[in-house]
Amino acid sequence: MAFQLVCSRCQQIYEPGSLLWRCPCGGLFDLATFPISFPRERINSRPPTLWRYLEALPFDPNYVGWQKVTMGEGYTPLVQLPIQQPGAWFKMDYSMPTLSFKDRGAAVLIAKAAELGVEHVIADSSGNAGTAIAAYAARAGITCDIYVPASASSKKLKQIAAHGASVHAIAGSREDTAAAAIAAVERGGVFYASHVYNPFFYQGTKTYAFEIWEQLGGHMPDSLILPVGNGTLVLGAYYGCQDLLRAGLIERLPRLLAVQAENCAPLAQAFEHNEADAAPVENKGTVAEGIAIAAPARSRQILAALRESHGAIITVSEAEIETARLGLARQGLYVEPTAAVPYAGYLCALNAPEGQNLANTSVAASYLNEMRQAIPQGQVVISLCGAGLKAA
Ligand SMILES: *Cc1c(COP(=O)(O)O)cnc(C)c1O
Ligand SMILES: [Zn+2]
Repeated sequence: MAFQLVCSRCQQIYEPGSLLWRCPCGGLFDLATFPISFPRERINSRPPTLWRYLEALPFDPNYVGWQKVTMGEGYTPLVQLPIQQPGAWFKMDYSMPTLSFKDRGAAVLIAKAAELGVEHVIADSSGNAGTAIAAYAARAGITCDIYVPASASSKKLKQIAAHGASVHAIAGSREDTAAAAIAAVERGGVFYASHVYNPFFYQGTKTYAFEIWEQLGGHMPDSLILPVGNGTLVLGAYYGCQDLLRAGLIERLPRLLAVQAENCAPLAQAFEHNEADAAPVENKGTVAEGIAIAAPARSRQILAALRESHGAIITVSEAEIETARLGLARQGLYVEPTAAVPYAGYLCALNAPEGQNLANTSVAASYLNEMRQAIPQGQVVISLCGAGLKAA
């Protein structure tokens, strides 16, 4: 089976093995649609990992190289919320081999790199994606260089180094780190295992939707509440739902409710102003380091996906993030600040008094009003996607 990269701007087609990380026209790569299926009996006969959906993943059916890369990632539990509502669950994506949902994308991307015969990868991240890429590259025997902001949580830096990757701690902003990684990629000869630019990463994160569908007995909830920075989980969930739609397994998209930190919210601003792209913002500083993305490269796709799903983007304050994180911990769930953001968004929707203009955006406010009415009967899955022990 052929898998092809397509430029999202000029539609030019490229081979996945090319070391290009984007089209010379400047457009980002997507993966061309390929045939998928969900053979229920085969899925049921396999271990509870994301690899049970093999027929929907971008590999030749005869390729077994993923078996030496996998660490059993995926199929994370759905845990019922204790108090608020019967149809609300947490998706426990922090129980992953490297303790964040990034393992979904990294396992699939590194398995693909191994299949392509790649020997050296570079990636940049605010921490968790770099950790995941470093861990899976180590398993695949691939040399790995990771660029991270010098300000990233020191535990994440140690975890990356422990996996044997070369750590490049870059002073300045998250954008400075990305620029340093891209400069290294442009010197040539390496594969850019970027969770932002490489479309195979999203082929891993899309399994988030497959699992929820299976765990809820073959349907999707009304809403998925997700954090958003670069959009690898939001877009992954969207692609996963699209696959389920295409396969005739669901009838419509669940609403995607994405949550940003108020202090760094380019997507929420663009959503509010009905823009197709997000203009870069200044990061005013947030404890949610994993979503502090001032200029998300795939903003156009993220905004389009959220609108198509009749979803919204809302923001939460630093205090709301802290309160949500503590509230989770008091329920036994210890997550890093970034991972408390979706729950903070959920509480914001649930607890706001009737009629109050809850969010700072009218579109989001009307969405939340609707959701608040739907919540007592509706179903919602809230992502918890990074472990608390990662935070400084
Ligand atoms: C990466 C990450 C996010 C944000 O994902 P994006 O792809 O940037 O939208 C949220 N929470 C945690 C714990 C993460 O590691
Ligand atoms: Zn192009």
